[in-house]
Amino acid sequence: MKFGGTSMGSAERIRVAARLVREQRDKRPVVVVVSAMSKITDLLLDTMKHAEVRDEAGLAQNVRILRARHKEAAAGLNLDIGECIDDLIAEFQRLVGGMLMLGERPARSVDEAVAIGERLSALLLASFLVSEGTAAAAVNAAQLIVTDPVFGNASPLMDLTERKAAAVLQPLIDGGTIPIATGFNGATVDGRSTTLGRGGSDFSASILSAALDAAELWIWTDVDGIMTADPRLVPEARVLEEVSFSEAAELAYNGAKVLHPRTLAPLVEKHIPVWSKNSFAPEKPGTRIVPVLSVSQGARAVTSMRNVALISLEPAHAGLSGVHVLARAMDSLARGNVEVLTISASSYRQSFCFLVRDDELARTVEILEAGLSMELAHGYVSPISIDREVSLLAVVGEGMRGTQGLAGRIFTAISRENVNIMAIAQGSSELTIAIVVRREGLEKAVRAVHAECHL
Ligand code: ASP
Ligand code: MG
Repeated sequence: MKFGGTSMGSAERIRVAARLVREQRDKRPVVVVVSAMSKITDLLLDTMKHAEVRDEAGLAQNVRILRARHKEAAAGLNLDIGECIDDLIAEFQRLVGGMLMLGERPARSVDEAVAIGERLSALLLASFLVSEGTAAAAVNAAQLIVTDPVFGNASPLMDLTERKAAAVLQPLIDGGTIPIATGFNGATVDGRSTTLGRGGSDFSASILSAALDAAELWIWTDVDGIMTADPRLVPEARVLEEVSFSEAAELAYNGAKVLHPRTLAPLVEKHIPVWSKNSFAPEKPGTRIVPVLSVSQGARAVTSMRNVALISLEPAHAGLSGVHVLARAMDSLARGNVEVLTISASSYRQSFCFLVRDDELARTVEILEAGLSMELAHGYVSPISIDREVSLLAVVGEGMRGTQGLAGRIFTAISRENVNIMAIAQGSSELTIAIVVRREGLEKAVRAVHAECHL
């Protein structure tokens, strides 16, 4: 079971989490993974920025908030763990003190420091369970999950993780103690701290599920499950009872916030199903994510990403093929770890365009300019063009494969709203149709598509 930040966000929420854990563990062994309390990761990262620019007052203010928030939760749970909280915060301060001195934030120290949020929340939940007479122990996932050294966005090394996780967790499980593992973090083979990317606790939970060969993974959030659309855009959006692994992964990659995009990969091979459930309404069934759907059912959901930017590249010399430009561009983006959302090209001679998140735009352009510096300097490639007033809409569903007329209906529905389509992409798996529209038309387009596909 994995509890997200809002499900760990206060004493009251931690009580509920503890109850949900106890209910299940009466039926079978449970391993728990927790996120930091809501907003704490942002607070920790912000604190490190204060340290980097030597803003000691801002730093101290953040540490006060950090301490108050966790002490308040401990008090609300009647726990006498002030010293343990202070110890972890002292560890954070030591790391941040180093950054203050250097005037910079080395990636590996950032990862070590930011994981303190999860260590604090694991401490709270484990201590509370123990105080209620349930054996539980907080476990730092640096002891469990072995990763590559890509700080801030590491990937697990599964064989090593399996061995480590089993060695640490199995004795606890066998002895009837519930392990409360930190989400988000891991460590390299040689013990340097890493994290799995923002929102990475879902990924931690799936990594540990696979490593331990779990029967199921339950992900507790603050929404009722995976929905047919963002309910803030589409009031009639509803919860899907069941989606396939591929659908859920596509939805996550295209902006549905309910699962970290990389979550499902470790589970595929072992066929471990996932439940996405609401800890604020645990009686609701939630969404079940399964390897294969019993019946595939056309378009399932429409997701959207509002803040994205469209980057276009165009060869400007007859002697240079678009394939070359594409290869160069993608190679440099891959090296820079930029996540490309959608790629579209009408022919290899022509321009092609791709989408990145707005907050990755500046870095992306820098990387592209460096990667294509020769071509740009000699005018073989036109200056990189950028459009920031766009959004992405994606229709996802395994059953769309081979369904004639669906794309036509989707485009017609969008054009009926007078929203211009700027780029489209559909892979040959026909699992997703990605559509780039003018940002101001996004909401209308999403509603129109939701209605047209009878979602
Ligand atoms: N606490 C981390 C974050 O905010 C990881 C997570 O919430 O899954 O990104
Ligand atoms: Mg989170």
